[in-house]
Amino acid sequence: MTPTVTTSGDLPGGATYDVTVIGGGVVGAAVARELAKYPLRTALVEARDDIGEGTSKANTAILHTGFDAVPGSLEARLVREGQRLLAGYATGSGIPVERVGALLVAWDEEQRALLPGLLAKAERNGYHAGRLLGAEELYGREPRLGPGALGALEIPDESIICPWTTPLAYATQAVRAGVHLHLGCRVLSIESGPYSGSDTGSGAAGGRHTLTTSRGPLHTRYLVNAAGLYADEIDRRMGLDTFTVTPRRGELMVFDKLARDLVRHILLPVPTAAGKGVLVAPTVFGNVLLGPTSEELDDKTDTDSSADGLHFLQEKGRRILPELLDEEVTAVYAGLRAATGQEDYRIQAHPDRRCVTVGGIRSTGLTASMAIAAHVTGLLDGIGLDLGTPRELPAVTMPNLGEAFPRPYLRADLIGRDPAYGTIVCHCERVTLGEIRDALSATVPPGSPDGLRRRTRAGGGRCQGFACGPAVRALFEGARP
Ligand SMILES: Cc1cc2nc3c(=O)[nH]c(=O)nc-3n(C[C@H](O)[C@H](O)[C@H](O)COP(=O)(O)OP(=O)(O)OC[C@H]3O[C@@H](n4cnc5c(N)ncnc54)[C@H](O)[C@@H]3O)c2cc1C
Repeated sequence: MTPTVTTSGDLPGGATYDVTVIGGGVVGAAVARELAKYPLRTALVEARDDIGEGTSKANTAILHTGFDAVPGSLEARLVREGQRLLAGYATGSGIPVERVGALLVAWDEEQRALLPGLLAKAERNGYHAGRLLGAEELYGREPRLGPGALGALEIPDESIICPWTTPLAYATQAVRAGVHLHLGCRVLSIESGPYSGSDTGSGAAGGRHTLTTSRGPLHTRYLVNAAGLYADEIDRRMGLDTFTVTPRRGELMVFDKLARDLVRHILLPVPTAAGKGVLVAPTVFGNVLLGPTSEELDDKTDTDSSADGLHFLQEKGRRILPELLDEEVTAVYAGLRAATGQEDYRIQAHPDRRCVTVGGIRSTGLTASMAIAAHVTGLLDGIGLDLGTPRELPAVTMPNLGEAFPRPYLRADLIGRDPAYGTIVCHCERVTLGEIRDALSATVPPGSPDGLRRRTRAGGGRCQGFACGPAVRALFEGARP
């Protein structure tokens, strides 16, 4: 099967899609992958020029256990299931993941008194491996921790994962199984009307949607609204008005790889009503993250970092891991959580609209993505989509971006077969010509040098592309059709 990935021009004509997923973030890509298991005509449409260009590219990259979710909530269940599913999928598909564990650190008596309650909450959430640690054991485990910590709750299964490879793996697998991916395709309006059922197979009666997109019309019987920050606006285009998304900005700082040895676990604060708070965490790329902040905004595009935000993070970081602040900062970034004024996901089927809305996936969507996808597919089934018999998806093996696993420049076998894997282009991140070439010719190629960075790490290191930028751009431009 020839993969269908379109990036410009009019959308290809043809039969009405059975399902169209709006939004190619980690959630939409996971849904498309799940639907790819069934004999359906499925489209994934994304406004930007790449997969994972929205909130999904700018998070804290933690594969949560869900120990601190609201017990009994949909989010608690989907995070718990999603963690199990994604941990297994990551291992099988080459997505870097490291089970470093988390320590939830108490810095005063009030916080220490909350730890047993958090342990009990973890138990209610089905997580039974949590354990309370005294100060001595805590400092034995994290010797560089700032002074004054009184104890901690250990959650050994919290893990770090590559946030970029995950949606890309989903999309790659979906496309290889026949899903049509249309990039640069913004949905502008949606009209729903009757449908004769003449141009597709199963259960076509009932109606169809006509999407007006920036690349022309698209017809589909069912819709999945996975538009993240814009899910409320997509719903309104269908006459649904059940929630409003308020972007909640989280700013983060990335510290140089020399800081990596300072920290062994994900260091979490004791959560408050305002949110999970500021953490220090290693990344699978070998850096250390400090963040995020939490600030409600009006503007769904404001991913700027701010002086106040960075100052706030420095103050918090100095308390948690003082030596971290002596290290160089490699990058700063911000992501926007899709807050909706409700502490649970807003996933809802609308039978009369033949649509499922996947809204309010704020802080845990990376972790829960595969479980959300299975849940959404079940809801589509429940509102009349005849799924058909599922089949195995073709396996995918993603290029390894993680420091804990052998990178191509270290692999004599690979270099022996192809010297391009021994030719370094980005020296900070040790990215080779072979990896860049592979990314540029992949099933879902990058739409920009930034997309290439997320596929290879080229330009993401301490010089931020100052040295390799021109060479990387030349390779990118040279591969453009
Ligand atoms: C600071 C921060 C830290 C986080 N940390 C973690 C973490 O450690 N672990 C974790 O599991 N989760 C974390 N999250 C949450 C996670 O990143 C999100 O839940 C997840 O990325 C949401 O994915 P999504 O696909 O719903 O949204 P998005 O990634 O925003 O995707 C939605 C897509 O829809 C597209 N779109 C919108 N409108 C249209 C339209 N009209 N037509 C076509 N396409 C459209 C957008 O371009 C976008 O690509 C964090 C989030 C933030 C902000």
